[in-house]
Amino acid sequence: MRKDLAAKLYADYPHLFWQRSLPRNQSSMHDGLCISDGWEPILRQLCQQLTNILVNDMGLDLASPDAKQYAFTQVKQKLGELRTYMTNTTPAMKNAIDDAEDKVARTCESCGEQGSTNEGLSGYIVTLCARCANDTRNNR
Ligand SMILES: [Zn+2]
Repeated sequence: MRKDLAAKLYADYPHLFWQRSLPRNQSSMHDGLCISDGWEPILRQLCQQLTNILVNDMGLDLASPDAKQYAFTQVKQKLGELRTYMTNTTPAMKNAIDDAEDKVARTCESCGEQGSTNEGLSGYIVTLCARCANDTRNNR
């Protein structure tokens, strides 16, 4: 993901991303948000849902040690899918994560339009819309 997009997410949801300051051997968040730009709105929406659960449903202060129990340890894409890992999750958080992963499977990782998951030219599985899939082919 573009550095400025990632920086904005870190700034808006520091309680979810604090593990990025840990060394690599303690948290894979050290490597940052390893997903494409087209999925940023979905990740942002997920962050907001998780925050709402912490504040509204669980009544936690986001700066408290209790809230910090629920943090991302890794956000990456694999085989055209979003994979998020957290230190802890509640059932409501798990639902929000499942929803986000479902949405990603239908969202172009390049531009955020409706897309589908296919095997890319490189042999990697990618999720792209028809236009971006074409662009990839033409820019070979
Ligand atoms: Zn696209």
